[in-house]
Amino acid sequence: MSDQSLQPVTILKGIGSETQNSLAEMGITTLHDLVMKFPYRHEDFRLKNIAETPHNERITVEGRVDSEPSVLFLGKNKSRMQIRLLVGPHLIKVVFFNQAYLKTKISIGQIITVTGKWDRGRQAISVSNYSPGPKTDQVDFEPMYSLKGNLKQKTFRKFMRQALHEVGPSLQDCLPNHIRETYKLMPMNEALEGVHFPIDAEHVKQARRRFVYEELLLFQLKMQAIKKVRKEQNRGISITYDVQQLKSMISTLPYELTGAQKRVVNEICKDLKEPHRMNRLLQGDVGSGKTVVAAISLYAVITAGYQGALMAPTEILAEQHAASLHEWLAPLGIRIALLTGSTKVKARRILLEQLVAGEIDLLIGTHALIQPDVEFKHLGLVITDEQHRFGVDQRRVLRDKGMSPDVLFMTATPIPRTLAITAFGEMDVSIIDEMPAGRKEIETHWVKKELFNQAIKRMESELKAGKQAYVICPLIEESEKLDVQNAVDVFEQLSSIFHSKYQVGLMHGRLHSDEKDEVMRSFSEGQVQVLVSTTVVEVGVNVPNATFMVIYDAERFGLAQLHQLRGRVGRGSDQSYCILLADPKTEEGKERMISMTETNDGFRLAEKDLELRGPGDFFGRKQSGLPEFKMADLVHDYRALETARQDAEKFMASAEFWVSDETKCLRDYLQQSGALDGNRID
Ligand code: ADP
Ligand code: MG
Repeated sequence: MSDQSLQPVTILKGIGSETQNSLAEMGITTLHDLVMKFPYRHEDFRLKNIAETPHNERITVEGRVDSEPSVLFLGKNKSRMQIRLLVGPHLIKVVFFNQAYLKTKISIGQIITVTGKWDRGRQAISVSNYSPGPKTDQVDFEPMYSLKGNLKQKTFRKFMRQALHEVGPSLQDCLPNHIRETYKLMPMNEALEGVHFPIDAEHVKQARRRFVYEELLLFQLKMQAIKKVRKEQNRGISITYDVQQLKSMISTLPYELTGAQKRVVNEICKDLKEPHRMNRLLQGDVGSGKTVVAAISLYAVITAGYQGALMAPTEILAEQHAASLHEWLAPLGIRIALLTGSTKVKARRILLEQLVAGEIDLLIGTHALIQPDVEFKHLGLVITDEQHRFGVDQRRVLRDKGMSPDVLFMTATPIPRTLAITAFGEMDVSIIDEMPAGRKEIETHWVKKELFNQAIKRMESELKAGKQAYVICPLIEESEKLDVQNAVDVFEQLSSIFHSKYQVGLMHGRLHSDEKDEVMRSFSEGQVQVLVSTTVVEVGVNVPNATFMVIYDAERFGLAQLHQLRGRVGRGSDQSYCILLADPKTEEGKERMISMTETNDGFRLAEKDLELRGPGDFFGRKQSGLPEFKMADLVHDYRALETARQDAEKFMASAEFWVSDETKCLRDYLQQSGALDGNRID
């Protein structure tokens, strides 16, 4: 950064204290801050052909006024003014809101230029920009900034002009020449011109391309530097597990591991042995068999004399994990305990004492596991299931509980590659990309809600064959209370349909945990054939005999969630079915339903979900850990992201990167970002 660019904005002409405050609110105090403030879009002022402009698109036209303005006053300061405008052969309506003062300035026969949204049906433009006279060809593209206070676009652009003039040429270009040449990227000052004062569409595009790449490269460099430094510091524990014990444990499992499971077990074991902290993401579609991988990894750590922890997002899942791991590990003498929010005070106290004394080898639980008073004797490995549901802070607390325990995050929400290398860029990734043998695709149908009865009939024939079914309840709104009510209604309805022929169970978030336990147990033991449930069964629950699922109001769920829900069936070797009851109102909703019927592949659905909903919504919650980019867009710029990632990898691996003058700017950035400190956690 040049010294010049660090000068305060107040050296520019026309910046008084009010403007200075507004700019400060936008995070702008120096000239550098100012020129790096990017517009959120560019207004396109090129003349467009009306006949070719789609409905609702913005358009600029030049035409001859064909009627006197007629004004309608709509109350205080509100008005609607309309004229007819002849644009080439087209006679269109032009509507001005709250600009009645223009009435005296516009007269028949005059040429004017207007910009606004084109309503194709009504053949009308709603004006956002007006200028008298023909379109001058000076400005085709105008950047629009999000501004604070009383700042106007025009004034802001004046400051920008001055600032660029002042510092543009002296600004340092962080991108090394060879990179710029390879990808034909504009130099910094040219790109800044292109963003703030573009000559044409191509100029904007090329400028944007440069900044997108730069932003993604810096981000990837940071992620990989963190990874590299962490490995070099060797500050984790090296876990020397007992290979023989591990092998014999694996041989006691009820099935042969899939090739993919074997591969990831090896990857994890290799990490455990290394003296650096493992920070690994384990991705595997629903039903791919992550639980047993977790069990093997935890067992390995325990054979080396350490403790393990397994954290699940819901009590049901924690309980289920506890049951599975108990079955596999208790016969081998492993001492397992379960800690959730509903563990009784006294039991909890005893448990905590045993934990710190090292009398418990494996603690399984919900986030109750990360409360401050939970102390381990020597925690070696922490596994979190469905990790994207945990916030970064929780992950940090958990990881701080031991002496740098190894950490494995498991997720069944297949994360599109672009998001995975962004949100989890500093992690190693293992993927289970193979289903246990004998699995059949779940047959999925999308039907109208009025066909509920038919869906239930179809369900009955499965029940007759000794199978079980889930009915996921209508989601009316984001209110747990209403959802519970719906579940209760559906439960009663089904109970009366099936009388005593089949047992119907009810599951929702408001049940006490022992009640949930009871329902879940009777479902998994087969005393209950139909489980009516809210989305609490979404994650992880495993009852292989369940082969039928009905999802009410399926259009209200995102693809990732639908896929998760559907993943509760198809867990055994029998053909399973999923009925989506949905009357989607939007095209996007329809597309989601169709996608569900077309594929069982979680990765493909995830890509689709990302495309339909955008990265912000993908994880559902704010805690996704996704960085905010100024220019880059993870949906559209995925190629640039991949390129940047590879380049960052090459940089990290080359000795020259760490000494060359050309890359000094990038190194400075890494230094400033803290990526080289080595004590970052996330
Ligand atoms: P997820 O990855 O969704 O957590 P689970 O670990 O719950 O999947 O496993 C899904 C089902 O597949 C369980 O019933 C489990 O016992 C079974 N399973 C896991 N691995 C294998 C395997 N290698 N062969 C056969 N069945 C397996
Ligand atoms: Mg699971």
